[in-house]
Amino acid sequence: MKRELVLFLSLVLLVSCEKPIGGNGGSEVGNGGDPEFVTAEHGLRYAYGILERIDPNQVPAFLKSQYSSTELQWFTDHRADLVKVLKEARLHWVDELPPFCEDHTVACARAGDPRIYVLKKEAPRFKNHREAAGNMIHEGVHLIGEANETLANRVAVFSLATWNNMGHPEAPHWIGMTDSPLTQEDVNKDPYLLRWQYVDWSQDRLYVWDERFFQSYNPVNDSWEMKPVAENPFDWKRSKGTFAIQSHYPMWLEAGGIVYVACRFNYGALTEANASGVFLDKQRAAWRAMTDVDAPSDRMYVGFTKTENRAVIWGGQSCSNTPNALNTGGFYDPKQDTWETIEVDPSTPTPRYGHGLLWSKDRLAVWGGVSVYQRPGELGVAQLVNDGAFYDPKSKTWEPIVSGANAPGPRMDPHLAWTGSELIVFGGRDARNKPALTDGAIYNPRTKKWRPMAPPAGPHSFGPFDQGYGFWTGSTFGFFSPQSLSFYDLRSDSWSEQGRAVVPGYERDSVLFWTGFEGVLWKRNDRKGALLYP
Ligand SMILES: [Zn+2]
Repeated sequence: MKRELVLFLSLVLLVSCEKPIGGNGGSEVGNGGDPEFVTAEHGLRYAYGILERIDPNQVPAFLKSQYSSTELQWFTDHRADLVKVLKEARLHWVDELPPFCEDHTVACARAGDPRIYVLKKEAPRFKNHREAAGNMIHEGVHLIGEANETLANRVAVFSLATWNNMGHPEAPHWIGMTDSPLTQEDVNKDPYLLRWQYVDWSQDRLYVWDERFFQSYNPVNDSWEMKPVAENPFDWKRSKGTFAIQSHYPMWLEAGGIVYVACRFNYGALTEANASGVFLDKQRAAWRAMTDVDAPSDRMYVGFTKTENRAVIWGGQSCSNTPNALNTGGFYDPKQDTWETIEVDPSTPTPRYGHGLLWSKDRLAVWGGVSVYQRPGELGVAQLVNDGAFYDPKSKTWEPIVSGANAPGPRMDPHLAWTGSELIVFGGRDARNKPALTDGAIYNPRTKKWRPMAPPAGPHSFGPFDQGYGFWTGSTFGFFSPQSLSFYDLRSDSWSEQGRAVVPGYERDSVLFWTGFEGVLWKRNDRKGALLYP
């Protein structure tokens, strides 16, 4: 880009009318990557994401009046090409720009070469995904062979401004997904397909699976794939009942979908005494039972999470009319069909359920929860804990997470995130049926010290936290609730809210995910989804 870059960036900020957020990007939890590089990648994805979704009929009048008919026509004629070249483009970080870049000083690109050359030392310019996207659209104009710098800048600003002003006043920036291929006819034939529907985000796809089908959704091109699956060995009918879904823990891993089925406990009585699991093998499109060998003891209210390729179950309550809290668990490997026991040693957290459980790249983190069984309604802060530990499966040892100054108060269902070097504990509840907590703290395992997080901006920022979704973006902690998408910046200790992104049609059965680029909402009840482009 030429000198117009500075002007161009200020234009983007001017028309976007929103505070820039602190480098929201990246896809891997705890990747610890360089925030600017992650943000640039995010910007590229965001660029074609919005270009693809812009509705040419919704260009606001004030914008139209600022562009010549030639410019507007250029945009109409080339929008599809821009999407295409940006989808194929790869960021190529260099110490020096190649000679053909002439007087460009940050980045450049040319037709017939999918690379967007970016100067490494200029990476800090990519402060947020919108700024990065503006740069990428500019380069996209060059990628399709247009050398005019002014046009490249104006197309970039026009695209971002149109997107920002396209007008979804009730639910800004939510875009409906293409309908899933599972038809109403399929559902009519078997209503259980809806109730027994499992959802998880894995790598780059949303997986939705049930007894008879598995589907995957690709947000990049808004498309679905669906496969029927063979009969499975699990007695699904046994578990079919109003509350049973709450005792099913779904996880989609690279190899396929796992459903860990806990024992059930309804209205104060044990109704289903055994816990078991089933695995849907993606390759074979068939179910099989998970082995019981070395499996954790039967339990309910389990803590569950996943590593890159294994499911993890830890804690919960024993299957009994007088249950005990547990501090045991295991890793399940779906490829080998084996369990690896999580060891118990003097540093293992005390038995608990309702705790936060997180895989932090190479260790398992446990924090908070309820220490003794308590009937719902009788739960008070006295039973809640505010400690935890890390478990290293290589050394099979636990390392306590010390409480102390600035540690979050006792709570259940806290949201955990791993930054690559620190553990974030946020939100949760300190009693049932009470509003969710809005505080949190950050733990450094090296110094064994906590520091508090600044509180979110306003009392209405989030709504019910317990239905929210906390995540690490690569550079910030994001919190996605039915009311809002907000990001916490560790360096400045401050939150920024991405508007009141009221989730369209959020229901109890809805599920929220963060792909690393956009928010995903899936409503189990009507099999519909939506994407949020912040
Ligand atoms: Zn240029």
